Amino acid sequence: MTYRHLSLWHETTPTDWTPRASLDGDADADVAIVGAGYTGLWTAYYLAEADPSLRIVVVEAEVAGFGASGRNGGWCSALFPTALGEGQDAAMRASVDEVQRVSAAEGIDCHFVKGGTIVLARSRAQLARARAEYGDAVLSPEQAAQHLRATRTLGATYTPDCAAIHPGRLVRGLAEVVVRRGVVLHERTPALSITPGLVRTPRGSVRAPYVVRATEGFTPRLPGLARAVVPVYSLIVATEPLSPGVWDEIGLARRETFSDHRHLIVYGQRTADDRLVFGGRGAPYHLRSRVSPAFDHEPRVFAGLHATLLDLFPVLQRTRFTHAWGGPLGIPRDWCASVGLDRGTGLAWAGGYVGDGVSTTNLAGRTLRDLILDRRTDLTALPWVGHRSPRWEPEPLRWLGINAGLRAMTLADAEERLTGRPSLVGRVMAPLVGGHSA
Ligand SMILES: Cc1cc2nc3c(=O)[nH]c(=O)nc-3n(C[C@H](O)[C@H](O)[C@H](O)COP(=O)(O)OP(=O)(O)OC[C@H]3O[C@@H](n4cnc5c(N)ncnc54)[C@H](O)[C@@H]3O)c2cc1C
Repeated sequence: MTYRHLSLWHETTPTDWTPRASLDGDADADVAIVGAGYTGLWTAYYLAEADPSLRIVVVEAEVAGFGASGRNGGWCSALFPTALGEGQDAAMRASVDEVQRVSAAEGIDCHFVKGGTIVLARSRAQLARARAEYGDAVLSPEQAAQHLRATRTLGATYTPDCAAIHPGRLVRGLAEVVVRRGVVLHERTPALSITPGLVRTPRGSVRAPYVVRATEGFTPRLPGLARAVVPVYSLIVATEPLSPGVWDEIGLARRETFSDHRHLIVYGQRTADDRLVFGGRGAPYHLRSRVSPAFDHEPRVFAGLHATLLDLFPVLQRTRFTHAWGGPLGIPRDWCASVGLDRGTGLAWAGGYVGDGVSTTNLAGRTLRDLILDRRTDLTALPWVGHRSPRWEPEPLRWLGINAGLRAMTLADAEERLTGRPSLVGRVMAPLVGGHSA
């Protein structure tokens, strides 16, 4: 497997993708972490910072940044997939700034620019939804155009609480920082099972009183966790770098991230090297929660993203699209991300971020530090701590339900495009298939 070709981000991250040494034999640690995405690495980072004497071992099935953390849309936002109240919201906003603080302090140049998010309303139905949610805060088309100039804009909503980042630079930078701080990172080392005090891998086990599961969309592969979250694929396309003239037409001068109020999520950003990166859902869920490199590419969805971008910005007519990729998100049954530690077994976890993990993983890492070090803090009192989502239905119910939901959202958007009125299907299904996440 050559990791450089996984995505635009992998290709443009200045890092050596050669895997670090696999675990070969048994090891003892104070904390074992499974998965080297943002969750596992932020947890390792804050633990090593709090107590440099801790022996921390991370095992990663592929390489750090192989999963969603290396492939995402780069919205470092304050979005949380479920409304849990002001405490959670404030903690999310602070997490965006914390990602910036640590990146700067550790010399991780992840192209962080906090330009906020602009979400357009491009049909009467979308405008009605925006008004219902944001009331008087809905921007006029003229105000929206100060951020972003897309066709058929009737209004927009704006929040300052989001930064555009280069995800690959963040995840690989974090991996390098934690290794420098003494964390042992074994790549190409898949955990075969996680049980209290023990992580089994093909050529040795890690024994540790605390074991953190940070495997997000890949979790169903682990024994006993087939129904914990479902992997749903989000897919992305990217353009060549665009000329200043094209950017004058489109906008995003402050590198605002952008979306619109359609049902089936889309998300975009202007990269530091002036490309448009644009993603969305719509890829099918695969029976028995399978994840496979084959599912990263879905020509129908890529074509849909391409067409949506041209519809938004006709100026892209002759633009070359240079990259297309995807990856699995982890979706819990109640759409609520969670973090926790079972004191009886020492098993800890964080995940189920749906598509809002870039900053939430940072909050998870700091919270896991406090839980493992047995500190009672504002973070450990947040409502998502210790939350247990119900399990998903057994197959084939899961497959039928999820794919019907995805299809319904696509149909609702098509219906609204045709009629201009809010789709009833969309209204009924929206709470079941989530809000504004990637
Ligand atoms: C296409 C896409 C776009 C997205 N866009 C955004 C966005 O713009 N903003 C946002 O906030 N969120 C976004 N997300 C979600 C966000 O990327 C994730 O929530 C976040 O990266 C999750 O981090 P993680 O460390 O928990 O999981 P991952 O990054 O998926 O890491 C899990 C790691 O565990 C490893 N692993 C799995 N099983 C095992 C095992 N048995 N043994 C050892 N290692 C194992 C995997 O190889 C992987 O490296 C997006 C996700 C995708 C896929």
